[in-house]
Amino acid sequence: MDDCLFCRIVAGEIPSDKVYEDEYVLVFKDIDPQAPVHVLIIPKKHYDNVLSVPADDDIMGKINEAVRIVAEKCGVDKTGFRVITNCGEDAGQSVKHLHFHLMGGRVLTWPAG
Ligand code: 5GP
Ligand code: ZN
Repeated sequence: MDDCLFCRIVAGEIPSDKVYEDEYVLVFKDIDPQAPVHVLIIPKKHYDNVLSVPADDDIMGKINEAVRIVAEKCGVDKTGFRVITNCGEDAGQSVKHLHFHLMGGRVLTWPAG
């Protein structure tokens, strides 16, 4: 989508600090990190949010592969980390392109706010 910030990052029109990329998924550092490790895992294809993924679509499996690779790459696979997707207004989803925050590198409090 032309007016979508993360589609523009996928297209290379807006720069990002890339951590991992494959055919389906892009991972880059959050511009406003809330933890020592805070990256965004996004599908290259546009989905508005987690409710927009069809049941027979395998993108969630591709995302999970990226989680494993990036957690290891960022050195949090042993210490622990959190994967969060905000969906809709009450969750505070600010970018309407499906994305997963992977956060770690410190002790994370629970419950999330
Ligand atoms: P949300 O609030 O939708 O769950 O998360 C959106 C995230 O995108 C926020 O954590 C915000 O800091 C991040 N973000 C917003 N604009 C940009 C940008 O232009 N580049 C990068 N790398 N991150 C962004
Ligand atoms: Zn998009």
